[in-house]
Amino acid sequence: VNRNAAFIKEARAFLSESQVLTDPQECSNFGSDWSRLSGAPFAVALPESTAQVAALLKLCSELKIAVVPSGGRTGLVGGAVAGKDSLVLSLARMHFIHKINTAASTVRVQAGATTQAVHEQCEPHGLIWPIELASKGSCQIGGNLATNAGGLRVIRYGMARKWVNGLQIVTAAGNIIELNRQIEKNNTGYDLIQLVVGSEGTLAVITEATLRLTTKPQASTVFFFGVDSIEQIVALLSLARSRRFPLLAFEFFSRACLRSVEKELNRASRLNVDSAFYVIVEMECALTPELELWTESLVSSKIITDGLIAHSSDERKQVWSLREGITESLSHRGGIRKYDLSLPLITIQNTILEIENRIKILKVRADVFWFGHLGDGSPHLNIVQIKESTREDFDADCDRFETDLFKILLESGGSISAEHGVGLLKKDWITYSRTPEERAWFRAIKNAFDPLGILNPGKIID
Ligand SMILES: Cc1cc2nc3c(=O)[nH]c(=O)nc-3n(C[C@H](O)[C@H](O)[C@H](O)COP(=O)(O)OP(=O)(O)OC[C@H]3O[C@@H](n4cnc5c(N)ncnc54)[C@H](O)[C@@H]3O)c2cc1C
Repeated sequence: VNRNAAFIKEARAFLSESQVLTDPQECSNFGSDWSRLSGAPFAVALPESTAQVAALLKLCSELKIAVVPSGGRTGLVGGAVAGKDSLVLSLARMHFIHKINTAASTVRVQAGATTQAVHEQCEPHGLIWPIELASKGSCQIGGNLATNAGGLRVIRYGMARKWVNGLQIVTAAGNIIELNRQIEKNNTGYDLIQLVVGSEGTLAVITEATLRLTTKPQASTVFFFGVDSIEQIVALLSLARSRRFPLLAFEFFSRACLRSVEKELNRASRLNVDSAFYVIVEMECALTPELELWTESLVSSKIITDGLIAHSSDERKQVWSLREGITESLSHRGGIRKYDLSLPLITIQNTILEIENRIKILKVRADVFWFGHLGDGSPHLNIVQIKESTREDFDADCDRFETDLFKILLESGGSISAEHGVGLLKKDWITYSRTPEERAWFRAIKNAFDPLGILNPGKIID
């Protein structure tokens, strides 16, 4: 407590009143994310420059105060959740976006810029930073890089780590390091950028990034299909790839997800046939008569039950809004457990069936929702409390189920987290995805960056 008071006094010597928040409600907001966990840090610091971030980290090192780097707080695993005696270091006021470097096809941004603001800056130049997520209006570039975000376009562009050339970071000791500045090539030893990307705020605070951009697709066509089984979705994926146009997206969701979006958000599907699953396929090409024939052939060969092609931009938005509204629609309900699975495509159908069976055998009293990035082998499984179950029963059911779920993942060669990270919620299960040797290296790397253990302690590994 004395340390916390000393911090506030010293921080206020170089930050304005509005840059150090201590109001419990504000602290609780800044200390919580989209996971089911909530935090209560003793203070929130809102630096406006890298120099201020460095001064804050120096001070926290001296006082041995835990620091939780914080972006848009849209994370789903509690990575930005801050404990009682920790400080939230929010990058929200550092959101400057430099002019696009069209020759290099890059843009330098401060870490607090939202993903959407970066997209909007790129748009007039016909360029994109291709990380596309439903949370883009709130999540920040620093958060996207710290979590190595995936999203709706991974099938075409890969994850966030592919789209960064340079980083400015501040270490736990308060030193500012420029990693690679703005250059494209730099084969001079270990790649520290890639170590920091995906480290969930445990190795350093990202203050700036040079993002790699690419040209916006000339044209794209959005298909919306009803499908009866996961097996057919995988068959559809093969057929879609065989059209030889790059796939910009291949997303799926179950009937229950559609019902939830219809009910909670008042959105509707224009398909006529009720199906077990729905798939959005976006191809990087203009619509041709051949593609229309292809869609018809999918119905006649019973790969799909029903399908439509979105002809106008309104129709495209409407189709995408069904997929993008799922997480929000489920947040209107009671208790919820979210699992972000990564599975080999070859066995995905069996693994999903095995998981569903396990839910039945264990009599988990909940509704089950499947959706996500099936084209990347990463379905999200959300389990939501039903009215007939109490919160205690729901939690007990899910706790029993989780052990079995992660065992199934281990046996199938999958991962416990495809793209959301480990944070707090998946920490106890990391042994299912990482060997003891890998975890020993994680600890060694953590010690090298942050010997006092003040940066986001307790996240990823203890
Ligand atoms: C509706 C919805 C849809 C989503 N869809 C996707 C999806 O499709 N794919 C996907 O991958 N994720 C998705 N997410 C999860 C989330 O949006 C991403 O993980 C995102 O990258 C988090 O960014 P953020 O700025 O909100 O980070 P936060 O939640 O604030 O933080 C996440 C982690 O990064 C660390 N961090 C944040 N900023 C910095 C920084 N400047 N320096 C160092 N560490 C930092 C934090 O300490 C924390 O550990 C979704 C979330 C929601 C709510």
